[in-house]
Amino acid sequence: MVEFTRWLVEQESMSREADATRRIANSLGERLTFEGAAVELLNDPIYGSTVRARFDNTATGSSADKQVLVVGHLDTVWPIGTLAERPFRVEDDLAFGPGIFDMKAGVMLAFFSMRAIKELGLVTKRPVTLLMTCDEETGSHFSRNVIEEEARRSYAALVLEPPIPGGTIKTGRKGVGEFELIIGGRPAHAGNDPRAGISAITELAHQILAINKLNDYERGTTLNVGVARGGVLSNVIAAEARAFIDLRFRTVDEGERLTEAMADLKPVLEGARIQVRGGINRPPLVRTTETGELFEHARGLAFEIGYDLKEGSVGGGSDGNFIAALGVPVLDGLGVDGAGAHAEHEHIIISDIPRRAALLTRLIETT
Ligand SMILES: [Zn+2]
Repeated sequence: MVEFTRWLVEQESMSREADATRRIANSLGERLTFEGAAVELLNDPIYGSTVRARFDNTATGSSADKQVLVVGHLDTVWPIGTLAERPFRVEDDLAFGPGIFDMKAGVMLAFFSMRAIKELGLVTKRPVTLLMTCDEETGSHFSRNVIEEEARRSYAALVLEPPIPGGTIKTGRKGVGEFELIIGGRPAHAGNDPRAGISAITELAHQILAINKLNDYERGTTLNVGVARGGVLSNVIAAEARAFIDLRFRTVDEGERLTEAMADLKPVLEGARIQVRGGINRPPLVRTTETGELFEHARGLAFEIGYDLKEGSVGGGSDGNFIAALGVPVLDGLGVDGAGAHAEHEHIIISDIPRRAALLTRLIETT
């Protein structure tokens, strides 16, 4: 399993490197075909290829109408060439490498679960579809349609994103919004004619403070002006300024409320203009009663395997958000324990692999 993980890590696959994600999708697709799946590659010129693999290990005459959906992504945040600087390596119980925790080790788990089901002759309660996408890290603009199409045919979804360090799986995720604020002022010579100008930068400063006031930590609503830029030269009153804002929220209503609040921003300086672009990218993954039941089922399976499975909620989004928004229960964070997603110390804990693989296999078999 470690060798298979290495094989995946050594096929670098940053999002938007279409050739690279096509190659890894191809090679994984071949391996899945060998394990008995009907495999299709869904191709996009910008993002590359997403793998869809269908397995039917149900009992003959089974009447299960809905499938179990297993979701992962093949893309990483690491530019091609990172591997040369930080090659795959094992140190004691840890394995390091770009994209290993988020989430090539999760892709490996899905592969071995399906292999185990085949080799042990296990009968699954429902047909299983594996979806390994190529653009999760950039917001799933290409794969979202197919994720939602498969979600509608699903009884439940199992998402192989990394767990919360410590192995806690995720039954709640905040929704994500992305906004761009474009401010128009009026340029003027800062020395000769300062009063003729309207500074877009000063206006932006007012807006940043207004946006910060929308934060509501108690409700779990946060906004971050992560990028601000404007102006051309110090002796010119700035005609234009821009900011990029990240929004996180817990409920659909709260997302709508904040989208309206962003659209309602009014200029403070006379003559300044404001334009707001963007909106909600991922709806929140809300823990429903069905999610709770699915978690209890998983917890029981983990108990049989010999450990105590915990659940938690996080601020980061995943493809699980799109699925949950359609009313399908989602268990997310079923990948291998480790730490350092999107960071240089990214690693997995090798001794966690067997129990996670056992849990995933049992979930696929019995859900
Ligand atoms: Zn991920």
